[in-house]
Amino acid sequence: MSRSILILGAGVCGLAAAWRLLEKDSSLQVTILESAEEPGGLARSLIVGDHIADLGPHRIFTELPDVQDFLHDLAGEDLETVRRASQMWLRGGWIEYPPKPVEVTRHLGVTTLAGAGASFALNKAAELLGARGNERESFESLMTSAFGPQLYELLVAPYARKVWKMSPRRIHADIARVRVSAGGLDQMVKKLFVPEKPGTLTAVRKFYYMAGGVEQLVRKMRAGVESRGGSINLVRNVNAIRFNGRATVCAENKASGRAESYQADDVISTIPLPDLLSMLFSGAGPAPSPAVVKAREDLHYIANFLVAFVVGKADVTDSQWLYFPGPDTVFNRAYLPKNFHSSMGSANETLVVFEITCHHGDRIWHRSDKALVAAALRGAERVGLFRKADVRMSLVHRIPHTYPIYDLGYRRRLNEIRKYLENFPRLINTGRQGLFLHNNMDHSIHMGFRSAEALLAADENPAREFYKEIRKFQQFRIVD
Ligand SMILES: Cc1cc2nc3c(=O)[nH]c(=O)nc-3n(C[C@H](O)[C@H](O)[C@H](O)COP(=O)(O)OP(=O)(O)OC[C@H]3O[C@@H](n4cnc5c(N)ncnc54)[C@H](O)[C@@H]3O)c2cc1C
Repeated sequence: MSRSILILGAGVCGLAAAWRLLEKDSSLQVTILESAEEPGGLARSLIVGDHIADLGPHRIFTELPDVQDFLHDLAGEDLETVRRASQMWLRGGWIEYPPKPVEVTRHLGVTTLAGAGASFALNKAAELLGARGNERESFESLMTSAFGPQLYELLVAPYARKVWKMSPRRIHADIARVRVSAGGLDQMVKKLFVPEKPGTLTAVRKFYYMAGGVEQLVRKMRAGVESRGGSINLVRNVNAIRFNGRATVCAENKASGRAESYQADDVISTIPLPDLLSMLFSGAGPAPSPAVVKAREDLHYIANFLVAFVVGKADVTDSQWLYFPGPDTVFNRAYLPKNFHSSMGSANETLVVFEITCHHGDRIWHRSDKALVAAALRGAERVGLFRKADVRMSLVHRIPHTYPIYDLGYRRRLNEIRKYLENFPRLINTGRQGLFLHNNMDHSIHMGFRSAEALLAADENPAREFYKEIRKFQQFRIVD
């Protein structure tokens, strides 16, 4: 009998793992179980009238050599280069994003900027002289040091508060390290004079995109897995997992309503970590300690609600993304799929999608679609994008597991959980949801490859082999 491997989840990580396994050994039996009706996970696209929108626009960009090679082999001719164009709505007007020092000075006025520069210098001096602690554990402490107290309050803190719906004092500095690629004020100024090198890029100027959106990339990955003999079983919601020599995984077939059971030698899981842990806790394996149970309970995600409007105007703005740090709009970001690629919409209309984040169960979470549409529309009118009379249709789409929350205790919790997971040598837990990581598709594709390679390289304990690389995965940066 050939070795059998079950992969839980058909996002780009699960698909990449299947791809690499079958590429290395075509005799393997590889089966993916996916709860949705299509593969892709977060890298899927929505249809809104005559328009297509990714679930959050997915530009294709990577600095990882193995993923670069893979993407070029997979989609080379279909990858089109797009020049980035994004703006920020700041104090009643638009500035380019990421902000440029000269434009920010013009927009905010020389006096404000001189004050901000002085506050940066004083803060740095205080840090150097030891008069101010240089603790860097929270988002707030790291970014105050990087930008100075005034610029931090003006440019950085409002957006963080709006996206995370919590005080930046309670957010771990790792969010800034992973997501805020602008660095700090000194780096912004240095960038004016010294070109950035690959590997240290702070912002993407050009990226790849595919006609029809990110789901086209997923379709190619799916075709590659299936043509090599892999099975992708859709509408299978995994709900139990047991290890007893081999692995037994149970899933509900959402089409037939029947319970199904699958056996395998090894499992690669890319489903959300809290869900996997619940299944392991109630399986026949080692019982979790109270600390592990508590660590699992305290892992939370930010949800993202997409509010999409088809507007009867050929042009709304040239930008692809618009950022809204201020309290004058309920949304924090908007994107216009047509400005990523003309195939995403019709010529005489424009689709504008607003992103509104919230916590599970909070005030926004409970809002009806109608109320979300009305609130987003008020914001759109306020910033002058379009008027109610321009709207031809609207749609709300909710994504519950969007951003893992890195609060101050998250590292300790993940370490506790990782020790527990080492009890399961034939289970590799990977991907954005599995490792509770802020990452991009390229990172998930790379982790999918590495989990497949670890499984094939180590006979005794493939999971331990894979987890040796976790620190590297945690340090991946999202080049904004
Ligand atoms: C708003 C937003 C914008 C983004 N923009 C970009 C971008 O511009 N560029 C970029 O490269 N990346 C971007 N990303 C990140 C990118 O989407 C992710 O890093 C990547 O898609 C994660 O892939 P994954 O396979 O690790 O996880 P996922 O895509 O989350 O896949 C997990 C899969 O598991 C399935 N699953 C869950 N539970 C079960 C269960 N019980 N049984 C069976 N299946 C289950 C899910 O349905 C899903 O298909 C963005 C993400 C977001 C949220």
